[in-house]
Parts: sequence; structure tokens; C-alpha cells
Amino acid sequence: MQRYAIIGHPVSHSDSPRLHHAAFAAANLDCRYEPIDIDPTELREGIASLKASGIAGFNVTIPHKEAILPLLDRVDDTVRAVGAANTVVHRDGILTGHNTDIHGFRALIAPFETAVNGGAVGVLGAGGASRAVLHVLTTSFTARRIVVLNRTTERAEQIAAAFSSPGVPVVPESLFQDDLQGLVGDLDVIINTTSVGMKPYTDASPLEDVKFRKNQIVVDLIYTPAETVLLRGAREAGATVAGGLEMFLQQAAESFRLWTGKELDMRKVWEGMGG
Ligand code: NAP
Repeated sequence: MQRYAIIGHPVSHSDSPRLHHAAFAAANLDCRYEPIDIDPTELREGIASLKASGIAGFNVTIPHKEAILPLLDRVDDTVRAVGAANTVVHRDGILTGHNTDIHGFRALIAPFETAVNGGAVGVLGAGGASRAVLHVLTTSFTARRIVVLNRTTERAEQIAAAFSSPGVPVVPESLFQDDLQGLVGDLDVIINTTSVGMKPYTDASPLEDVKFRKNQIVVDLIYTPAETVLLRGAREAGATVAGGLEMFLQQAAESFRLWTGKELDMRKVWEGMGG
């Protein structure tokens, strides 16, 4: 039996163990997939012990997607460009990092291509998921401008500098500022990549007192719950909304392909297990 896992802190919110169990069963593979909570202060020891255990591969979630890079033996070109990894393959004693969040986000944002191209796009958050989102937005789309809003302004500044180009300028802003309503009101597309509103803190929103408009698009990467407080407020204001399930399923399909070489319809697997 081959072993797989997801590492994070916390990790209990993740539906990846349920989904990958069902996926391995659907593909007739004798594999196990377990959640492993690793404190950020113990990441180095945690990765060394996973490697020694002979694990076949693992997913990486909050907050380790960037910190794990120096602990891997190799990273692919996409990880180098994004600066974050969410999938690790362990083969012949080598840990190789990949980023399948970009596949997931491409699928999630595809229906809104017209609004993103030429539009003003706001990205909330500056962590690992934000890096995958900015990579896709700046390489596959032509937004007029992108604003990164983050709690820690220095991280917004770093990520904006890493992804900004003359063609698509990326501007850093603080999530805590006097005219948040004015700034968000000017955006055509708003994408939440922070963990604010995720289970178990489902009453929270990264844009607590902000009002949305009818012709805005609001996307939340969070998929637990299916509708966050942020999305509910936007939907009630008449905005178009999308939660993170499509991204979750497509990033999982790509991780599964990297580990097993098999293509699987994760939407079908998800629906088969009752969602
Ligand atoms: P991360 O690297 O830990 O980044 C977390 C981000 O959230 C940072 O920008 C952080 O701001 C911000 N944040 C955390 N707590 C906050 C608070 N109380 N107020 C304001 N901002 C706060 O995590 P990640 O890997 O990017 O993941 C972020 C979220 O995306 C998670 O909810 C994850 O489940 C979701 N996600 C979903 C999918 C999917 O497949 N649907 C894929 C990837 C990620 P600071 O910089 O100030 O700390």
C-alpha cells in the first residue's frame, strides 16, 4: 500500500483526505491518504520524517506552501515562477515540488475571462494561494491593473513587486485602511485568497463592512463553507459569485495525475461521495 498525506496547520478543515480516498478507490488503487498537522516551527523535522517514512507524496496547505521550498530536493519550473508548492512527489528518494493550485485557479476563473481582461482586479491576501492566483492572472490574462490587499502590508509589497510588470501593474494596499469601501468599489473582480471565513471561523469576512455592486464578480478560494460570509454579502447585493470548490477539485485532479499518472474526473468522484 502506498501512503499519501496533506500537511498543514491547521489541517482539519481540509476535505482532501475524503476526496483522495474516494479517488484512489475509484481508480482501484490500494493507497492511503491522511491529514498530518505540522506546526510551522517543526516543518524541517516534519518533512525529514515524512521522507524517511517512505511516503509516496503529499499535499501542502496553510501556512507551509512557501516555507517548504528550501526543504525540497527539486522544484518544477512553475513552482520557481510562483514561489509556492502545494504538491510533492517522492520518487527514488527525491522530493519534487509542484504547484497544482494554478490548474485549479485557471478552472475557477475561466468563466470570468471577459471581466478580468481589461478590468481592475483585487486580490485579497499575499500567501501561497495568492501567489498561484497572481501567477495565473499575470501570465494568462490582461487585467488593466491588479491591487493586492493584505493585512501585513510588507507581504503585499513583496508579492506586488514579484508579479508586477509594465503590461499588468500590481499595486500593494493594506486591508486595514480608511477608504477600503472606495478602493473595493472601483474593482471589477475581487478574489479572496485569505483564510478569513474558512471553517471553523465562518462568521468572519476579510471585507467586513464593505458593500458590493451588481456588476462586480466576487470569487472566494475557500470551499469550506461552500458560501462564505463574503460571498453571501456579495450575492445579496446582486454581484456574481463563485466559491472555491471548482479550484479544489481541479487542483486535486492534477495532484492525483502527478502521483499516479491517471486522469480522473474529480467532480464525478466528489458527487459520488455525496459532496
Ligand atoms: P497562507 O499562505 O497561510 O496565507 C494566508 C493569507 O491570509 C495571508 O495573506 C494572511 O495575511 C491572510 N490572513 C490570515 N488570517 C487573517 C486575518 N485574521 N485577517 C486578515 N488576513 C488574514 O494560506 P494559503 O495557502 O495562501 O491559503 C489561503 C486560503 O486559500 C485558505 O483558506 C485555503 O483553504 C484557500 N485555498 C483554497 C484552495 C482551493 O483549492 N479552493 C487552494 C488553495 C488555497 P498575512 O500575510 O497578514 O498573514
